[in-house]
Amino acid sequence: MAQLIDGKALSAQVLQQVAADVALLKAEYGIVPTLAVVLVGEDPASQVYVRNKLKRSAEAGIGSREHRLNRDTTQQELGQLIEALNHDPEVHGILVQLPLPSQLDEDVVIASIHPDKDVDGFHPLNVGALAAGRDTLVPCTPQGCMIMLNQVYPDLSGKHAVVVGRSNIVGKPMAMLLLQANCTVTVVHSRTQNIAAVCRNADIVIAAAGRMELVDADWIKPGATVIDVGINAIEVDGKRKLIGDVAFDSVFPVAGAITPVPGGVGPMTIACLLLNTTRALKRQLTAHPDKASVAVAANG
Ligand code: NDP
Repeated sequence: MAQLIDGKALSAQVLQQVAADVALLKAEYGIVPTLAVVLVGEDPASQVYVRNKLKRSAEAGIGSREHRLNRDTTQQELGQLIEALNHDPEVHGILVQLPLPSQLDEDVVIASIHPDKDVDGFHPLNVGALAAGRDTLVPCTPQGCMIMLNQVYPDLSGKHAVVVGRSNIVGKPMAMLLLQANCTVTVVHSRTQNIAAVCRNADIVIAAAGRMELVDADWIKPGATVIDVGINAIEVDGKRKLIGDVAFDSVFPVAGAITPVPGGVGPMTIACLLLNTTRALKRQLTAHPDKASVAVAANG
């Protein structure tokens, strides 16, 4: 029977650390780390995510600004808002909730956020810095997965990790972080052959395919650690239910450790977003030691 890696409890610890950082930054510099959250349109899942992010921000003492834009917002209008937030000295992190309505180009939007305020870690400069093994703002979900893995293995060195999925948001940065932690990393995706056999070799399986219960017991080596990133919403008796990418009941007796859905990676992602917000402010303070001009330089 697997050890359950409790994302709720672990995220509470991370949030405590964030709250302590917030108190320190306030005491030392008189600055409250502040996150601007931009939501375009009325996508129901995005509204839930944004609400949760703002709630947790408030609990950790992080300031927040909510910008809700009409679903017909143009690229230029969104660009102008991001530009204003880039230059706002009282905003230290900017998050644009994805996905965006189809008229908006996500790549252009991501690249328009100042890299020092890019708390999602999606800006090409931050992606490149992560790939080069430099200290940078790292995407929240893979960062949360690493904290969970460290609960099981304080030292990940030499472990064989298989990442199921190669998205820019989860799969690729996850692979980079595992590599940095000296794992042997395999990334599998929709074109991979004999995927179950590849996963059965792994000490660690990270499931991030967005396919409900894709990973079952046949994919898992006895004793392996399984991190389920998947969030698949279904309706049961008129109620919304979240199901992971791992068939939990099948894998639980085989795995050595496993994360639940919900209550696993999800809360860790939000906690790491707030961790990134305090990190972003610290980086801005280092780059601009004059606390009166914390804002990223106007032409930066
Ligand atoms: P994407 O759809 O962007 O990427 C999915 C990846 O999985 C792709 O690389 C795809 O391969 C691969 N894939 C799809 N089907 C299969 C299959 N049958 N076998 C193997 N690989 C497959 O999804 P995201 O990375 O954005 O998200 C993945 C999941 O994680 C989703 O359920 C999402 O909701 C969830 N998520 C959860 C978060 C959290 O906080 N817990 C945060 C972010 C995401 P290919 O590239 O070949 O198409």
